[in-house]
Amino acid sequence: MKYLGIPLEKPKVAFFGFTGCEGCQLQIANKEETLADLLGAVEVMSFRLISSDKDDGYDIAFVEGSITTEGEVERLKKIRAQAKILVAIGACACLGGVNNLRSRFPLDETIQEVYGNHVIESGPVRKLSEVVTVDYELPGCPISKAEFEWLVRHVIVGVIPQLPQYPVCVECKQRIKTCVFDMGIMCMGPVTRAGCNAICPSNHMGCWGCRGAVDEANFESFIEILRERGFAEREIAERANFFNAFSGVDVIPQLEG
Ligand code: SF4
Ligand code: SF4
Ligand code: SF4
Repeated sequence: MKYLGIPLEKPKVAFFGFTGCEGCQLQIANKEETLADLLGAVEVMSFRLISSDKDDGYDIAFVEGSITTEGEVERLKKIRAQAKILVAIGACACLGGVNNLRSRFPLDETIQEVYGNHVIESGPVRKLSEVVTVDYELPGCPISKAEFEWLVRHVIVGVIPQLPQYPVCVECKQRIKTCVFDMGIMCMGPVTRAGCNAICPSNHMGCWGCRGAVDEANFESFIEILRERGFAEREIAERANFFNAFSGVDVIPQLEG
């Protein structure tokens, strides 16, 4: 690949999955209309979903999933030691994601309920940045294919990718959609970072916060409005805690077993 006649080196990239459903990696592998372009712009060293070849000589690591075992901690640290740039992809990697719900209940009881007497190793659910330094985060459950390609373009040319600094409501209004609150449905859009084109509210589902908290959100007023609208504490906790997007925000009711 050349730019102004100057040969550009293809960055060597690798994809890794930890605790998650692999839906984010599948988004990338499934986008057939641009997959060839992507493969032309980068050299894929390791990507289990598309090839059994593996090579540890990568510079950029895209990492999906949250960290739930000591084995995963060690594996992630090795990836971090190799990668010049580490990108967390998806809500599980950026926030802990839906897996965090397990940490909100007694671990022994949860394992017993799900696995019975089958012995499994499982510890606290952590987002990647709780274990290693993360250079960039690409949120969403799953990630958006278009946003992934936008991020790759930035990383290749060495420009810092800036996620939207405004809430989902902005994109929702751009689509001229009726607010789901007017239908009696809760929505985390006012406190959630945009970038998904308000896909859930546009389909009358209300936002669950999978892209994480937007900067400078007014949580106090937002929670107050939810209460005024008649939503119960448990209902607010279930939605606000679902992806662990708002952890550390003390006005948000917590979901406990
Ligand atoms: S963020 Fe969502 S789609 Fe991606 S791995 Fe986690 S659960 Fe799956
Ligand atoms: S539906 Fe949700 S995202 Fe859309 S305007 Fe209402 S609160 Fe905001
Ligand atoms: S509307 Fe909310 S839950 Fe739905 S994709 Fe966007 S950020 Fe995620």
